[in-house]
Formats: sequence, C-alpha cells, structure tokens
Amino acid sequence: MKELMTGNEAIARGAYEHGVTVGVGYPGTPSTEILENFARYPGIKAQWAPNEKVALEVGMGASLAGARVLVTMKHVGVNVAADPLMTAAYTGVNGGLVLVSADDPGMHSSQNEQDNRFYARFARVPMFEPSDSQEALDMVGLALQVSEEFDLPVILRTTTRVAHSQSMVELKERNEVPLRPYRKDTKKWLMVPAFGRLRRQALEERLQKLKAYTETTPVNFISWGDRRVGVITSGISYQYVREVLPGASILKLGMTFPLPEGLIRQFAAGVERLLVVEELDPYIEEFVRGLGLEVTGKKIFPAWNEFTPGLVRRKLKEAGVPVPSPGDGEGTDACLPGADGQLEELPPVPGRPPVLCPGCPHRGVFYVLRKLKLVVTGDIGCYTLGGLPPMEGMDSCVCMGASIGMAHGCELADSSLARRTVAVIGDSTFFHSGITGLIHMVYNGGHGTVIILDNRTTAMTGHQDHPGTGKTLMGEPAPAVDLEALVRALGVGRVRVVDPLDIAGLTQAIQEEAAAGAPSVIIARRPCALLQRENRPPVRVDGETCTGCKTCLKLSCPAISVQDKKAAVDAIICTGCGLCVQVCKFGALKEGGENNG
Ligand code: SF4
Ligand code: SF4
Repeated sequence: MKELMTGNEAIARGAYEHGVTVGVGYPGTPSTEILENFARYPGIKAQWAPNEKVALEVGMGASLAGARVLVTMKHVGVNVAADPLMTAAYTGVNGGLVLVSADDPGMHSSQNEQDNRFYARFARVPMFEPSDSQEALDMVGLALQVSEEFDLPVILRTTTRVAHSQSMVELKERNEVPLRPYRKDTKKWLMVPAFGRLRRQALEERLQKLKAYTETTPVNFISWGDRRVGVITSGISYQYVREVLPGASILKLGMTFPLPEGLIRQFAAGVERLLVVEELDPYIEEFVRGLGLEVTGKKIFPAWNEFTPGLVRRKLKEAGVPVPSPGDGEGTDACLPGADGQLEELPPVPGRPPVLCPGCPHRGVFYVLRKLKLVVTGDIGCYTLGGLPPMEGMDSCVCMGASIGMAHGCELADSSLARRTVAVIGDSTFFHSGITGLIHMVYNGGHGTVIILDNRTTAMTGHQDHPGTGKTLMGEPAPAVDLEALVRALGVGRVRVVDPLDIAGLTQAIQEEAAAGAPSVIIARRPCALLQRENRPPVRVDGETCTGCKTCLKLSCPAISVQDKKAAVDAIICTGCGLCVQVCKFGALKEGGENNG
C-alpha cells in the first residue's frame, strides 16, 4: 500500500516496520514529529527525555539490552548528546541504534545552521542521508542493519526540507525483530582507559570494513548521462540537481560517512567537469579535493542557507554549465527563498517578525523586565520572541539552558550587575538543562534571580509533555515534578509563584527578588494561551478616553493596533487576558466586551 508521508512520518514508519521497540528524544524542529508519529504504533515504547544527552543514554541502555532503538533530535541537540555519542562509537551496540540528526539549513527555527555531517566523521560513526520520504523509511532499516553488522550507532541525517515535505512511500508489514540476547561484556561496554584503548583500536578496524561497505551499498550509485558534467550530491540537493540538470551524470551519495573513495574516483574519471552540489559546508567537496581530484563546489554555491532548484539553476548558469531553462518541464520554485535570502521570481514581501501570541502569559513578564531596565539573560523557547522589538525584554540567548549560567557570569564579571540581572527560562528548558545552571549558581554563592516561565508545556515545538506536565508521550499519567520543591531542594531559599498576568504583583516580585542579594526563583505560572483557552471576553476601547498615547502597543500584542489615532482591539484574536487594561493609565481599555466565543 502506498501513502503520502512527510520525511518525519516515514522515519517513524521505517522504525516501526524494521522492528524498533524503543524511541526516545527531545522535541526540536524539524525533528519533533518523528517520535510523535512513532508513539502511535502498537507494541512500541516512545519517550520524551528532558534533554538529548539523556535521550541517547536511554537509547544506549535499550540497545545494550538488545532492543532496536531510534533516538531523535534536531541538529543543535546533537551538541548536547555529543558526550555519550563520542563514546558510543567505542562501545558500539547490541540492538541496532539509529540517531536522527534533523538539520536546519536556513535556520527556519534554530539559533544556528551547523552541518552535522561532521559529527559522523568526528565520532567515527556511519551516516545516511535520505533525499525523500521513501528513502527516509528505507534508510532507517538499512541503518539498523549496518548498526548491528558493524557494531556502531548510525546517524540518519535529514534536513528541514526532507523532514517536512511529503512524497509517496510504500508501506510494508512490521518485521518483529526479537531482542538480541544480553551478554555481560565489560571490555566492550565499560569504558575505563584500559578497555577504552582496546575499543579505540577495534573502532578503526570496524571503520576499515565500513569503507569497503560504502563502495558497494546500493544507496551510493551513479546515474550516467551527459558526461560533459558530473555532479556529486546528497540529501535534498540530489532532487534539485535532478530537476535542474535532468540529463547530467550524477553520483548520488546516500551514505555520506565514510565516503566511497573508489566510487568517487570512478565517477570523476568518467566525466569532463566534476561538480559537488551540497547545502552548507564543503563536506563532500573537501573529501573529493583531498583525493587529488579537480572539483568545483563552494566556488559557485553558497556555504550558507537552504538551496532551492532556482538557486542551483542560477549558480550553475553563472558557472557556465549548460542548463535547460525552466518551463521545459523542470518546474520552478517561485515561492522559495534563495541562498541570498531573496525571493526568486517574485517581488519581496514585507518582513513580518514573529511575535508572542495574543494572551501569551509571557508578555507581562517581558513588559515588566523592560520597564525595570534589568539585564535579562534569556533562553530558547517561544518566549525568546520577547527579545524582539517592540518588546526587547531580553538581552541574550545562546543555547538551551544557557540563561542561568550567563546571568551568573555577568555577576562574576561585574558585581554591580548582581542585583540588576535576571535569567529567564521556560519550564521545559529548565528541565532540559537549566537545572544544572541553577545548581552551579547556588553552589558558587551567586545572587541571581531566575524567572521560570512555567506555561505547563513545551510550547515552541507544539505542546509536547515534559517531566512537569504529569503526562508521558504515550499519554499515560506520570508524576509531575513539583518545581517549587525542586528548586528549594537545589538550595534556593527564596522561591515564589506569581501570576504573569498581574503586572503589579509581577513588578513587586521581580524588584524584591532582584534586590534580595540571595539566589531566588520566581515561577511565573499560567498555561500557554494556545493550550488552555480561557473563555474571557475581549477587551473594548473607550474611544472617548483613549488619548492615542500608544503605551498599550509596547505590549506587542497582535490584537492591538492604533487606527485614526485611537487604540483598536481585534475582538476575534483578543483573549481578554487583561494586560493592556493594566498598562493604560487613562482607563481607556475595558474588560468585558462582547464574547468572542
Ligand atoms: S488605549 Fe490607553 S494606552 Fe492605548 S493608546 Fe489609548 S490611552 Fe494609550
Ligand atoms: S486583553 Fe489586551 S493584551 Fe490581552 S489579548 Fe486582548 S488586546 Fe491583547
């Protein structure tokens, strides 16, 4: 049976069909839907972990016990999981283990666009790169097979365009794979230096065998065509090359670590001009050049942003490669941004920066922080939007969990900042990696204030549960971590819970805690406006009283605008949260308009 699936759905299906019984990860765009879909299949166990390091460690444990395992994360999550990953190559596996790294060229929803192909080389683990949903499904099976045959975890690397676009896949029945028997083997699994040295050598031996395998695996293949130009490519770039240069010779690499030296040499010898088309870094190109072959890649193509067929076509033309014109059946991509960030074949549209939702409980916190002119070290989540104009309620944002350590660092560098700096972090992010920052701050005598924006979910990625929500990925009830008790247990003496929709209460709490000269945690608790809709009527504007002063616009609520020099509220999207009523000192905004239902 055939079905239209996204790459993420296909990876989940591939794991199901190929006997994976354990799936674990941390939500992060563009990887999130893999586990959400996997959790729906019968006979499997799927879990959200508090962070990617834990996810991989759980996966390694399940593999040790003999199960086939899927571990999912976005590209930056692999940084968090890098510690166990580097040693996982030494220990190897028992049951096959596939780690999905979902990369995000173009930074659609990420803080950077790192090229995780280098992680495979760095960790010395095999890597596969699908270019559509069918390959995504099939490569999960192949990766599991390679994992068990070569005793290594395997990285399956996707990119946003593969993860989220849909294509047809052939569905098959599940192959129930029995648990591989568990055998105590300390020389393989106990990485003390004496055993680690042995496994380091064994890793090189396994890699030599993989080098032979990558020459013959069917996912690395040559399609001979016009031999004037030969293109080496992988992932989604393969689809673009096929669309733009339908007649060219192509070496398609589905396995990109190790790279097939012999196949590349054979291909290069068969074409007049050798090109590499790859998004982000010159990963393949540098390998090819290292073989002493003449090749063109990043001299033509940008080393940043996402590619499109239009960009590939334009750059090839600029480099003098004969390219059939669009309209000859090659299709177009008028709606996709090119590597230079401009729309191709359509006039640019005005930029629309994302904003916090109407009724978002975080809005009040950022309004107060900005008003109090505090230094705010921020973190990763939808609340990061509170740092953008016009709110500008955040000074920094680096990576998951960094806010608390950075606040402490500010205090270390300049003690006068101790009472003027607060860290802001979401509940899910606090569980991910904020806890350790807080332990550090308390242990080292810091005086910082941490505001945990507790909206009872992982909102940014689509409302996934976490250890504080009282529910698992499989929908089962779970003990919910008591945040207040947890932070007290870490040694924080000053802990208070506030309502982020109460501006006066918030202001007082933040002022008192920032000035306290002791580590403190403020939990600003309200469910995400999209998670739990409260049936409050929208506010209304008293046109007589409104002076048009625009103070209410500082809240950056998409429901408020100024029209004809008076405030206007869009009753359809206003949630009646009441924040704007509190900031209008003229009393022109009134609660209790007509209910928007
Ligand atoms: S509603 Fe209040 S804050 Fe907004 S423009 Fe009118 S007077 Fe100013
Ligand atoms: S009450 Fe005011 S701040 Fe809240 S959603 Fe409505 S317009 Fe926006």
